[in-house]
Amino acid sequence: MTEIPYSGIREIFSECNRLERNGEDIVHLEIGRPDFDTPSPIKQAAKSAIDEGHVHYTSNYGIQPLRDRISAKFETDSGISYDPEDEIIVTAGASEAVFVSIMSMVDPGTEVLIPDPCWTYAPTVRAAGGTPVRYPLDPESGFQPNIEVLDSLINDDTSLLILNSPHNPTGSVIDDDHLRAVRDLVVENDLIAVSDEIYEKIIYGGAKHRSLASLDGMYERTITINGVSKAYSMTGWRVGYLGAPKALADEILRMRQYTTTCAPSISQYAALRALEGDLFEPLVEAFADRRALVCERIEDVPGMTAPTPEGAIYVYPTVPEPSTDGREFVWSLLHDTGVALVPGDVFGSNSSRVRIAYSNSLDRINTAFDRIEAWVENQ
Ligand code: PMP
Repeated sequence: MTEIPYSGIREIFSECNRLERNGEDIVHLEIGRPDFDTPSPIKQAAKSAIDEGHVHYTSNYGIQPLRDRISAKFETDSGISYDPEDEIIVTAGASEAVFVSIMSMVDPGTEVLIPDPCWTYAPTVRAAGGTPVRYPLDPESGFQPNIEVLDSLINDDTSLLILNSPHNPTGSVIDDDHLRAVRDLVVENDLIAVSDEIYEKIIYGGAKHRSLASLDGMYERTITINGVSKAYSMTGWRVGYLGAPKALADEILRMRQYTTTCAPSISQYAALRALEGDLFEPLVEAFADRRALVCERIEDVPGMTAPTPEGAIYVYPTVPEPSTDGREFVWSLLHDTGVALVPGDVFGSNSSRVRIAYSNSLDRINTAFDRIEAWVENQ
């Protein structure tokens, strides 16, 4: 456990709670979750599941109709054929899919390539006895992976590469050239890949999402992770899923039998309803408006710059002048103005950036930036 730190975001949460208890008005731009209610047809499906008595353990793989639906979705959206019998595993959130994938694929002493910056893969890699090795995403290229550096980090101990697109915390979407270059390295070096595609549906403008497993040579060596938390605003329902070739899915399922057994039965019926339609569209439209506003407001803050995010619900700008340190800036801003962000170094090595989650209304985003501008003027 000495290798496993407390989550850096938790520190900010706790401080926000304390300040709110003291009556302060906090603008939350630190939370990585949609603030909308879950669409009502999905809630109805859950109510029916309760009334129909779907209240027991399910198969470790998940309920069959949901696996059939996920398999069809992979086929239509990504062009990947996963057998709904034994190549799809429904999990308690994408978090559990990430956890069981890493725990079952990483041997002690091996190295796992993770993006710099990225979401919290590193603690699980450490829990599995592996060493996380970070490959840089370059701000100059809109946070695409630096392929040359990535190549130089691979050695005989490397076992796994984790990719996340659309990306938390930068909002980048990997382009086809970089995706192919990653594929080439994974295949040449005989690695396994975990592709975390949880923000797949939250994508803007002309950006296109492509699944790593759909590229030649990748199906047999890729675990594709997705879920309903983000696109359908269902973070509390705890349903995610993964697709993997049978040889890998068998091993992951074994690990999975000793974690949560199955995702909540009622939530699985709700997820089935979610994946039957386009219920994510209004939510994505609302995020597109927020993204536009955040980008516009960032431009007016001296020293704050960021590549325009093409997906997810985050932007990862540099700190405003005269600040140079993300952590100092975040804590001063929180205490002086009540605006909550996350220091960039929570996600990796960059200490001069911050993550802004636009999981709040246009009004509150404007309030946050009014306060940030006033704070900068007072420095
Ligand atoms: N992957 C990424 C990149 C995430 O940002 C998150 C949630 N913040 C997850 C996985 C986990 O999502 P879930 O709620 O489905 O567990």
